[in-house]
Amino acid sequence: MSHYIPEGLPDRIRHYIDGESVDSVGGETFDVLDPVSNETYVQAAAGQQADIDLAVAAARRAFTEGPWPRMLPRERSRVLHRIADLVEARDARLAELETFDTGLPITQALGQARRAAENFRFFADLIVAQADDTYKVPGRQVNYVNRKPIGVAGLITPWNTPFMLESWKLAPAIATGNTVVLKPAEFTPLSASLWAEIFEEAGLPQGVFNLVNGLGEEAGDALVKHPDVPLISFTGESRTGQIIFGNAAPFLKGLSMELGGKSPAVVFADADLDAAVDATIFGVFSLNGERCTAGSRILVERAVYDQFVEKYAAQAKRVVVGDPHDPRTEVGALVHPEHYDKVMSYVELGKGEGRLVAGGGRPEGFPTGNYVAPTVFADVPKDARIFQEEIFGPVVAITPFDGEEEALELANGVKYGLAAYIWTNDLKRAHNFAQAVEAGMVWLNSNNVRDLRTPFGGVKASGLGHEGGYRSIDFYTDQQAVHITL
Ligand code: NAD
Repeated sequence: MSHYIPEGLPDRIRHYIDGESVDSVGGETFDVLDPVSNETYVQAAAGQQADIDLAVAAARRAFTEGPWPRMLPRERSRVLHRIADLVEARDARLAELETFDTGLPITQALGQARRAAENFRFFADLIVAQADDTYKVPGRQVNYVNRKPIGVAGLITPWNTPFMLESWKLAPAIATGNTVVLKPAEFTPLSASLWAEIFEEAGLPQGVFNLVNGLGEEAGDALVKHPDVPLISFTGESRTGQIIFGNAAPFLKGLSMELGGKSPAVVFADADLDAAVDATIFGVFSLNGERCTAGSRILVERAVYDQFVEKYAAQAKRVVVGDPHDPRTEVGALVHPEHYDKVMSYVELGKGEGRLVAGGGRPEGFPTGNYVAPTVFADVPKDARIFQEEIFGPVVAITPFDGEEEALELANGVKYGLAAYIWTNDLKRAHNFAQAVEAGMVWLNSNNVRDLRTPFGGVKASGLGHEGGYRSIDFYTDQQAVHITL
């Protein structure tokens, strides 16, 4: 199979500290692979404590001495809009690099690049519109709020849709006047290396944005434990979130945790079945299934169960697996051989836990690369590991239920609580089920589309705190109350 390699790949991926592109102090590097050939295409600087120290010192200087935290929201907003313009203008290049590094289908990577631009535009607008409480007690007191940036924010991001998820933290962190150190995921450092140039061109002052590449246990760990970093915004696995939580505890840091999921899609017998099939196919197979909000458990009411499974399996078999750069591709290559092995081990496990009705391994015609055929297991019991554990690939478990009570018990019967998707034409039931389901976000008869003003986050093992809209602004700012006696 031909292998597309973008032109102009960097000869080395470096850190970006205090406005300079630099190698690690000790010269350490790690290999970066592309998921189609699984060959090393570049070396990236592997940040250690010393590199994190330099980056935090630069960010700290920019915070205490630089103009950024003291600029008016409107001035910062202009820079953010310029960043959005530059991201938009480079969307095709960004998508090309992201696809090459992550294996995401190119059309979906392009959508993620545009979303990254939108994240900057959204927070640029929001900080200008920001309103804070003021209360007057006549003849007694005036009370108002001083909203202040906090300092150096440590941003730690995962490898799924890396550029977009970085933007979701970078935009509110800097919009509010903080300075940052970003530690992107080690599987996918390529697109993050474009931020420096974009920020410089947009006029972001030196030292506001710093980037240190490297492994989680080294660079990430040093960032979490750095005493001059009062905030950590983390997106990644629940297990990593627990470790970070522990490491940040002695410093009482502000933490935002966006963690894993095993989200249910609940299909009642009265639902529009074709719409539910389409949406639930998209919900677990888009972004290669490497999606925190993937509807990876489908619960179907018994009266329509057989019909649903049949339609679903037939449609899953039509999902186009292909070279990530081919615009016809719907499922590309999984990010890394280690992750591929993990997903494949669940596929094998599933053969003993459920009834395989589509996929089940490497698709025909793809002897190499991290390709997995869209895989569907039916009749999966609730204690199965493929029902309980996050697989993070194109693999779905379908389970029948009888009545609302059992549907709710199954939906809530896992440790996660990120998203839930509910399909029913009974309005009352839809709202009551949404209220009862343990999920941070619910979609009723709807695909995963959302307004950026709404809260984003999970309950139970899926996270701590919410991002989105003013909640992000609140996380990245101190709200000091001032009381004046009249
Ligand atoms: P991961 O937890 O392995 O890594 C995430 C980041 O944390 C990486 O940058 C990694 O280097 C770093 N890291 C690892 N160990 C660390 C440590 N000890 N200290 C500091 N940093 C450390 O997650 P991943 O495999 O990159 O991403 C996939 C996971 O992310 C899935 O569980 C998925 O559900 C979750 N996710 C959640 C959301 C959400 O918004 N809830 C969004 C996307 C992904």
